[in-house]
Amino acid sequence: MSGTPRKREVTRRGRVVNTKRWDEFECPECSAHNPWDDGFEQGDELFCSWCGEVWLVRLIPESDPPRFRLESQ
Ligand SMILES: [Zn+2]
Repeated sequence: MSGTPRKREVTRRGRVVNTKRWDEFECPECSAHNPWDDGFEQGDELFCSWCGEVWLVRLIPESDPPRFRLESQ
């Protein structure tokens, strides 16, 4: 796995879903703060620059403002 984050996956199935981009996350594994210059959104794969753990971005339903959780891969 290259660790390159994919962009613009929101238009999957040709339909724009509730989209929101974030530009940083805190690693659930080691609590490191990871700035993500390109931004990420739900469905993207992230990796912690400290411990190398890979995470999948999941939007928390009905969160306002939109929030995400990270799922271990
Ligand atoms: Zn980490």
